[in-house]
Amino acid sequence: MNIVLLGFPGAGKGTQAEKLVGKYNFRHISTGDLIRHEIALGTPLGKEVEATIDSGNLASDEMIISILVKAIKDEKRSVIFDGFPRTIAQAEALDDYLAQHGTQVDAAVLIRLSEAEVLKRITSRRICKECGAVYNINAEGYSGKCNKCGGALYIRHDDDEQSARHRLEVFHKETQPLIEYYERGGKCKAVDGSKSIEKVFEEIEAVLGLSKGE
Ligand SMILES: [Zn+2]
Repeated sequence: MNIVLLGFPGAGKGTQAEKLVGKYNFRHISTGDLIRHEIALGTPLGKEVEATIDSGNLASDEMIISILVKAIKDEKRSVIFDGFPRTIAQAEALDDYLAQHGTQVDAAVLIRLSEAEVLKRITSRRICKECGAVYNINAEGYSGKCNKCGGALYIRHDDDEQSARHRLEVFHKETQPLIEYYERGGKCKAVDGSKSIEKVFEEIEAVLGLSKGE
């Protein structure tokens, strides 16, 4: 089973992906991590991507797909695509590639969250100046300083409200066409991201048909 994870920044995609990996042995593919890995390896492709990013441009669809194909070509496990596809062209390329290998994207799981909730989550994040630990001002045990090292906490530059709103706009522009693309194929499965991590996970299991018979 191959799934694409869609959701606002702060919707908990990473957390839910980890839970799927832990319980069902999915392979979690984060394109950001793959790209960093390829650059670190110093392959010709990695160097090309690095030069592109260094010149202030985004890696092209072709580059990203080449990296992705390398990562999944011998993968036997189910795959969770996180941070990919970002464009319809990428979604089509992924479908083509998987079809050539006798498989497909089985579901696009959309972790839905209201804009107000996303803004609240992003702007309530605080980071330790000393050790980088991440806190949420609404979480239990929040003390206003780092619980691990006692360091002072700060708001990351792109977590302020203006930047958060900008990220929301970018997300809408980028993701809405993808949601529609997967809806047309009958593959978009929305879950309510405002619930607890456990409840969201149960919903994901249900929409993927994983919880049956347990
Ligand atoms: Zn700290």
